[in-house]
Amino acid sequence: MGSTAEEFLVTSEDKAFDMDHRRIINYNIGKYDTAVDKGLSRIINLENTKRKAHVIKWKVMENLDKILPEFEANFQKRGGKVIWANDAEEANREILNIIKKAGAKTVVKSKSMVTEEIHMNEFLEHHHIESLETDLGEYIVQLLGQRPYHIVTPAMHLSKEDIAKLFHEKFGTPLDFTPEQLTQKARELLRDKYVQADVGITGANFLIADTGSIAITENEGNARLSTSFPKIHIAVVGIEKIIPTMADLDLFWPMLATHGTGQNLTVYNTILSGPRQAEETDGPDEMYVVLLDNGRTNLLAQKEQRQALYCIRCGACLNACPVYKNIGGHTYETTYSGPIGSIITPHMAGMEEFKHLSYASSLCGKCTEVCPVKIEIHKMLLLNRRDAVQEHLVTTKEQWGWSLWKKGMLSRKLTDFLSGKTKNIMLRTFFKKTWGHYKEMPKVAEKSFSTMFKEQNGIKD
Ligand code: SF4
Repeated sequence: MGSTAEEFLVTSEDKAFDMDHRRIINYNIGKYDTAVDKGLSRIINLENTKRKAHVIKWKVMENLDKILPEFEANFQKRGGKVIWANDAEEANREILNIIKKAGAKTVVKSKSMVTEEIHMNEFLEHHHIESLETDLGEYIVQLLGQRPYHIVTPAMHLSKEDIAKLFHEKFGTPLDFTPEQLTQKARELLRDKYVQADVGITGANFLIADTGSIAITENEGNARLSTSFPKIHIAVVGIEKIIPTMADLDLFWPMLATHGTGQNLTVYNTILSGPRQAEETDGPDEMYVVLLDNGRTNLLAQKEQRQALYCIRCGACLNACPVYKNIGGHTYETTYSGPIGSIITPHMAGMEEFKHLSYASSLCGKCTEVCPVKIEIHKMLLLNRRDAVQEHLVTTKEQWGWSLWKKGMLSRKLTDFLSGKTKNIMLRTFFKKTWGHYKEMPKVAEKSFSTMFKEQNGIKD
């Protein structure tokens, strides 16, 4: 296989014509659309609410240097410990140190895209620590040895038959088990693990600065179990997840729930502010928050593009995107897929390797339209393309192609002079590869419109 970009083109083409994939995704996104329409109809003045969310996030990002220490100080007041991690390696090393110090061998984990981003499970496995996913969707993709397909619904690409087959192969359950029976089976398998594990690892949907707390949103209760049974709780959180006050949850919780799944509120919303206090009966003895940068400050440094950090990971832009719906989440080969993944990944993981994702868009603007924090996603895609050109990261062939195109388009003489045949050869030479196998290259007419007009009307040059 060639570069990441070439692989992306090949896999995209395969996936787009995989009819089973299309059927499952259309079905699951169809269900999501119906739920979201209903959920959103309950928000009075949605546009205004989005604007408010945007402004709060704008303020936060402009003052990140003050608000993060505020969170740290408040979290420490109640006995929590904060670890600042510059990159994935630092974060993993710190997590491993805590686990080793506790002499733990098993970790229970709730759904967290940040731990996917730092490849924590693989790292822990490499150090002989069992890291068990407890969210049902995550558990299923972990059994399959896959990465999450979607930032909110990790097993969206699987039908209930696929999951029944997987459980049949792994645990010998009947092939005709219903989703309820499969869930019951997973519950039985996981229950003991919560009690046995010494460490629970989660992400967090929000960091709350004024109280020094983290807020976790989930539908299955597994995050609550992962944070209350084990003696140690580690939350790994991207620095952009911060909000100023607890009162802001009043806005962000419903926005996340409606845009993520169509619910008015997600089933379990938990606020944790440090380890178990003297007067409390539940909770861990130790609680850590790992604040992860891992390229986020690169994005913060880009004045025009930093709004991509406002993202609350609701997944709405993925579900709305015609490209995502056709090529699916795994094709992106990144932790964050879809439109938001395409705009942040080049800054977090390297423009050269991931710039092609900013071109995987029809620029229809649907992502921007659905975003609850009003990130101008399609504009960010264009800005990434601009950056790639300015940093000379496009191929010489492409640069030549466009500069000839520009020359031709700006010169009437040249446009009329070149025959249709020459123009068609040039198109095939410079653009055929990126055009794909399934589309015919457009054919340019033998004579230009102006030449034909002059000929038909007897106009001489
Ligand atoms: S960019 Fe907006 S729509 Fe997409 S996941 Fe983030 S918050 Fe949701």
